[in-house]
Order: sequence, then structure tokens, then C-alpha cells
Amino acid sequence: MKIKIRLRVLPMTRTTPPRPLDVEALFLELAAYRGTTTRLHPRPGSPAVSDSSVGGPMLWPVDEPWPVCDEAHGRGRGRRIADIRQERDLLATAWAGGRFSGLTQEQQQLLDELRRTHRNPEARECDPLPLIALAQLYRRDVPDLPPGPDGCDLLQVFWCPFSAHGPGRYEPLLHLRWRRSARSVRCSARRRCRSS
Ligand SMILES: [Zn+2]
Repeated sequence: MKIKIRLRVLPMTRTTPPRPLDVEALFLELAAYRGTTTRLHPRPGSPAVSDSSVGGPMLWPVDEPWPVCDEAHGRGRGRRIADIRQERDLLATAWAGGRFSGLTQEQQQLLDELRRTHRNPEARECDPLPLIALAQLYRRDVPDLPPGPDGCDLLQVFWCPFSAHGPGRYEPLLHLRWRRSARSVRCSARRRCRSS
């Protein structure tokens, strides 16, 4: 499975089944809260910064610092991103054609190794931790998405790789950023960008 995933925009394949019943007819008071919801159906692809995507490159100014998590929580234990990607590639190959073809003993051993967690004893609880670029959505691709502040048309979503936030210390940390795409920039696959 490719790591970068592109949202299919128009023409869109509808995979959400029809509603089994008319909720608004059964509960009239809900009609006042009607709104448009967009479900994401990402497909493997090679998105550009000018595309809406999940896990693709962000449109990002070169002089803008990348967002970080600086909340105090453990950072010293986890899996390596390269290992996760290699695991996905391995399983995608094994599932090619929609059927699981099995793993060799060597592949199973590699899978076990890739799934190991690792420790970084030097990581301190408040070290700035770069957030993961989760998705970017252009307004043109999301029906009824209201504009951001100052007419921004691009919503970018990040999160911390650790679910260790909030009162219970188990919640994810989401970070949203709006920008105006016309004022932004080119961006390379390494997410280093250059002002236009
Ligand atoms: Zn965090």
C-alpha cells in the first residue's frame, strides 16, 4: 500500500450506502440541525501540494515553522515511521489481488521486527515534537465547507503521533491551520517550501 493517499474528488465514487430510514421524518426536531457532512474515501495515489489529500504533501511556506507538540508527555517509546511504511508495503504485496497469499518465514520474521517498539531514552517530556501532516482539504473539494479566516481556502490538519493528551492523558492532539492557497507556495516532497 502506498503511503501517500489522494482523495478522489469529482467524479466521485459513492460508496456510502443509502440511508435505511428518514431520520428527519421520525424526529422532526432534528431538521433544524441538518448540515452537510463529507465522508473521506481516500485511494492510493501520488498527490501534489495543489491536491486535497490524506497523508500527502502540504502546501507550506518555507519560512513558516512546522507545528510541534510541546505538551509534557512521554516521547521515548514508539514505532519508527519507516518501519510502519515497510510493514504496509509488505502486507499490500501479500494482499495483492484481494487475496492473502501468505508470508514466507523470512517475511513473518521481518514483520515481527518491523512491529517492535523502540526506546529513545534521551527524549525528554517537553521536547518539541513535529506533528504529523494528516490531511489538507481545499474548500473546492468539500461541499459547504465554510471559508476560514480572511478568506482562507485550504484547511490543513495535523496531529501529535502520541495519544497522550487531555485530562485522561489518552486523547489525541489535533491542530488545524487555515491558509490562503493563492498566497502560498511550492513545496517539495520533503515538505520544504519556497515562497512564490
Ligand atoms: Zn503530543
